[in-house]
Amino acid sequence: RLAKLPYHKTLDQFDFEFQPSIDERRIRDLATLRFVEHRENVILLGPPGVGKTHLAVALAMEAISRRKTVYFTSAHDLVQTLQDAHRSGSIQQKMRAYTKPDMLLIDEIGYRKMDETAAHFFFQIVSERYEKGSIVLTSNKSFGMWGDIFGDTVLATAILDRLLHHSSTINIKGESYRVKEKKKAGFFR
Ligand code: ADP
Ligand code: MG
Repeated sequence: RLAKLPYHKTLDQFDFEFQPSIDERRIRDLATLRFVEHRENVILLGPPGVGKTHLAVALAMEAISRRKTVYFTSAHDLVQTLQDAHRSGSIQQKMRAYTKPDMLLIDEIGYRKMDETAAHFFFQIVSERYEKGSIVLTSNKSFGMWGDIFGDTVLATAILDRLLHHSSTINIKGESYRVKEKKKAGFFR
């Protein structure tokens, strides 16, 4: 049931005081998982280290504790897996892993650009889940830059159109928690 989470962290381990751009009430509201019942999406945007993956993982753990089916993948692994499956003729079977769960988490969209095949499958996943199952997505790139990620502005617009129709976007602005920990340990003296 714990679907490939990169680490296990809960909302209670999140220091909201450190990241004042995050409205704690909105996050607590997401943790009720009403958005999953309503098949809505959550998009966490912001620079590295501000807590995007932590919050995504916390929502995943909440969902798992409520017996929801959850699948967590990095965008990079997703693309790699789909390209391999495409080559070996098992793409339909693999697509089901991404379209079936109650909650699909896609971490770190935007660190790498997608080629045409990958962008096409990504669009297919978003289309098939549209109004059927929630996607929780993290990205370091604002929506205006998604044309670059998918190498195609028309396709990026079609993806965003479906993704954002029923969704909440959490825009995180602030310092990296990793840097804060390093500062505390004296790395930056
Ligand atoms: P990113 O935004 O790059 O996905 P992460 O969510 O992985 O960053 O956060 C980096 C590390 O810092 C993780 O270990 C995470 O648990 C921790 N972290 C980030 N923000 C907070 C916070 N506000 N309170 C507690 N831990 C945090
Ligand atoms: Mg991350």
